[in-house]
Formats: sequence, C-alpha cells, structure tokens
Amino acid sequence: MNNNEDKFKKVVAHCKEYGFVFPSSEIYDGLGAVYDYGQNGVELKNNIRSYWWKSMVYMNENIVGIDAAIFMHPTVWKASGHVDGFSDPMIDNKDSKKRYRADQLIEEKAAQYEAKGKTDKAASLLSAMNTFLNDNDLEGLKNLIVEAEIACPVSGTRNWTDVRQFNLMYSTQMGSAADSAEQVYLRPETAQGIFVNFLNVQKTGRMKIPFGIAQTGKAFRNEIVARQFILRMREFEQMEMQFFVRPGDEMKWYAHWKETRMKWHLNLGTPSADYRYHDHEKLAHYANAAVDVEYRFPFGFREVEGIHSRTGFDLGKHQEFSGKKLQYFDTEMNQSYTPFVIETSIGLDRMFLLLMCNAYTEEEVRNGDATEIRTVLKIPAPLAPVKVAIFPLTKKDGLPEKAREVMDLLKCDYNCLYEEKDNIGKRYRRMDAIGTPFCITIDHQTLEDHTVTVRDRDTMLQERISIDALEKLMDEKLNLRHLLKNL
Ligand code: ATP
Repeated sequence: MNNNEDKFKKVVAHCKEYGFVFPSSEIYDGLGAVYDYGQNGVELKNNIRSYWWKSMVYMNENIVGIDAAIFMHPTVWKASGHVDGFSDPMIDNKDSKKRYRADQLIEEKAAQYEAKGKTDKAASLLSAMNTFLNDNDLEGLKNLIVEAEIACPVSGTRNWTDVRQFNLMYSTQMGSAADSAEQVYLRPETAQGIFVNFLNVQKTGRMKIPFGIAQTGKAFRNEIVARQFILRMREFEQMEMQFFVRPGDEMKWYAHWKETRMKWHLNLGTPSADYRYHDHEKLAHYANAAVDVEYRFPFGFREVEGIHSRTGFDLGKHQEFSGKKLQYFDTEMNQSYTPFVIETSIGLDRMFLLLMCNAYTEEEVRNGDATEIRTVLKIPAPLAPVKVAIFPLTKKDGLPEKAREVMDLLKCDYNCLYEEKDNIGKRYRRMDAIGTPFCITIDHQTLEDHTVTVRDRDTMLQERISIDALEKLMDEKLNLRHLLKNL
C-alpha cells in the first residue's frame, strides 16, 4: 500500500472513530454513498459553511443570501435542461452485473496507456470519446469500449450491454391521489432556486447590478459510481453564489471570482502547491468560460469548486418557459437586459474532506524516555469542532466546581468540552485527535491565584494566565473574524 492510500484510509477511519462521519443507517449495513455527520462533523461542517456564508454575504455589500426549497416546480428542470440533459452514459457488465460510467471506463484505459508511455494511443482514445460524447453517439462509445478491449475490473470479461443515458435526478410524487399526483424532482443543484428568485430578491432588496445571491443547501444526484467516501455522494450539500452582471462585463467578473475564490481557499493555510486551476476545454453549450478549483487529495487532484460564466442562459430559459419577464432595467444605461451570470459552486462535503485530509497529522513526540506517535488534526482554530476543552486536574478539592465556572464563562461563545476522566496527558491526546485548539487546566494553584494553564494544540506549550484574561485570549485566537479580515 502506498503512503497516500494509507493516509486516506486513516482519514476515513479517523472520521468514524472520532465522531465526524458515519455511514448512513449503519446498523442496517449502510446505504450506498450516503453519510451522516456525527457530533464533531456537524460542528466542523457548520463552521465551514459559516466561513463561506460570511465571506460572501457579510463581506460583500452587494451579495445577499436566500434559502430556497428543495422541491421546485417540475418545469424548472425542463427549462434548465436537466430533464433532457443531466445524464451520464452508463454500461453494465452482464457477468458481474456491475454498472459503470462509459466515459470513466475509457478514461481509465487511457490512463493505463499513459502509464505505459503510449501517449499517442491515450490521446486518440480520449479524442474519439469526446467526439462521441459531444455527438451523443452511444453506439460509438460502446464500439470504442469493445475495440479498446476494455474488460470489467470485477469479472474480467468483455460481455457488455449497450451504452444508455442515465438521468441523475431523483424523482418522487407530490399530491395524495395517485392519478393526479405530479412528478417532482429532488434538486440536483441549488442554483435554480436562485435564478427563479432573481426578480423577487432584486426588487425587494433594491439590488443594483452587479449583485450576487448566495445559498447553501442539500442537492441530490443518483451518481452511477459513487466512490472515495464523501467526495461523491448521492445526497450532498452545495454552497453556491450567482453573480449578476451586465452582458459584456462577464469576463472581468469571471477573473475577479476566480481569484477571490482561490484566496478564500488559501486563507485556510492549505499549501498552495496542493491547489490548481483546471480550465475547461470542452464548455457546456451555455458557458463562455469555466474553471475548476482542484485540490490534491491523497488519491490525486479532484474538483472542489467550479467557477462558471453562464451567460444569460438560465434567466433566458426561465423567461421562455415561464412567460415572465426576467430582466433588469439598468438606469445608467437606460435600458433593460437579461443579466449575465458568473457562478461559484463549491461542495461543502468536499471542502470538509479537503480540510480533514490537510489537517490529519501524525507526529513523533517524546514521552519521558520513549517516543510515541501523536495524531493531531491541525484544523484552522476558528473552524475547529470543539474550541476549548476544560479539565480539572483532579475530581476533588473543589477543582471541578472551579472548572465549571470557567466553562460558564466561555460556553456561550464557543463549543466547549468538559472532561475530568483519565490523566491530563490522555485527555490532551483525545483533544488533539479532534483538533481542539486549546485545553484549559484548573489545578490547585487556580484556587489560590485565579490562574489556569492554557495548552496550545500545535506547539503543545502551556502558558499560565489569569482567568480574567481568558475571554480576550480566546477571542484573539478563535473568532472567525481573524480568517475573514484577511480576505
Ligand atoms: P464532478 O465532475 O466531480 O461530478 P460536477 O462538475 O458535476 O462534479 P458541479 O455540478 O459543478 O460538479 O457541482 C459543483 C460542486 O458540487 C462540485 O465542485 C463539487 O464540490 C460538488 N459536488 C458535485 N457532485 C457532488 C457529489 N455527488 N457529492 C459531493 N459533492 C458534489
């Protein structure tokens, strides 16, 4: 097993063992690519969401937030192109009964050619695939799989079905009477909730172009192949912002958001060498520029966020399908137009996985004469799930009561954890493993001089300070403000 695979397995195991992420319905053996967040996971997720929300809505006077419903009128998905076009080409192996994405099978074959130095063969395979995908030529894709002699990784055979398009949207019925029930979809992206509310927000918020609408929320996709833990889930959460601009200004704003979003990522202290942009060569028919922000996960670079220049496509389509005018009257230009849109779309769960992979650290530390490994999550302090742990040195002599007083001082502002079991060393290790930035110990000296020791997660150094100085110190280290003000 190589180091990266090993690290990823450790991160996944750590997520479960320390209450970050559990498989959904685990007592019933789980549900494919669906996960639950545990007591520490939910805190980290909320904090990432808050960092994103504040960076968008609080830090920009011209961006406001909304929270649209998951269910939407079914015509929304017709207008957006999802009913007809939101699909992946799939193929089944008749022997193993396993289902694959045809394009991924071909890409994997090309990667094998590449690894053997057969660069030309790889390039011609990918170019043929792109032509067939663009032409929606499913027979061509099937022939390509047969000609390239691609075998099922499970059965090893080449006994394939035809390639079919598989729509990724989940649908259900709305209404109680079977005959009058209407088919509705679970949204596959949050963006459409913003487009259909464009006028509501613009008018009620008296928004002037350029302005943005931000939203976070659940999205659902029936992914054919869901792999790599919470990287690709069937139920996940997005954080999206649609920025409405004058047609013709979109490239300026596209460049702005491309830079701004990378800054947001790097502001978390992740090494810049682990990030890269990936410009789309093949653009969706409605886009005139698109880039992915990719992060080097232990299994390779993968998309975390997309920044797309979507022209006036979405508002134009909703205008066409709804028959309602979705335009903006620009008083400076004295004319109406359909605004163009720059979209930033990031997966909250992917960002969570990114932070866990980046934070997970094993360090050699001295313990007396011996060395031991400490596992520590170096999560940026303002995002840590538990901010402060409070430890009475012993369970007697009035120390627990004093510790509760310290807890009461801090618990309205920070998620604090009180712990009196085990020796202090063990308690420190447990807090390192969930990324708690500070541990405060209340000892006998506290009763005499009103001071405590504060131990820093990263340096492991302890400092004795007065209880009266605690609130200020914690505010200096833990407030989200410190991350936001660097943006
Ligand atoms: P991919 O190519 O990885 O399937 P995508 O290009 O379909 O992603 P978008 O539709 O642009 O993704 O969605 C925006 C963001 O939502 C992605 O950058 C990703 O972070 C997140 N996302 C998309 N699909 C999933 C999923 N199945 N599980 C978790 N996050 C997802």
